[in-house]
Amino acid sequence: MTDAQEQRMNGTAKTYTLLGADGRFYRSSARGEWGGHRGSKIYGRLDCPAALRAIARGGYVRHRVFFADEATAVAAGFRPCGACCKDRYQQWKTAREENRPWTP
Ligand SMILES: [Zn+2]
Repeated sequence: MTDAQEQRMNGTAKTYTLLGADGRFYRSSARGEWGGHRGSKIYGRLDCPAALRAIARGGYVRHRVFFADEATAVAAGFRPCGACCKDRYQQWKTAREENRPWTP
């Protein structure tokens, strides 16, 4: 069952708090597709092993944010994670070294 279907059945709106391109949080009925760390401004996959390790150690969770998509994460000033997004991280790094913007 999708969230939308569940919502209609039980009458409660299940919402998620996502971070927008402008750096502000907003409520969304769709779950975020990407995770991020607000302090280090790194985004990555929801199942990123580096993020999951950090979460297991504690301390990470209060900095954890979610994005609807990758473009939003980049627009909000986050950069790709070097652990779970190696290719993107390299592209981002090269672009930065060459002083040009990077988009996923
Ligand atoms: Zn990662």
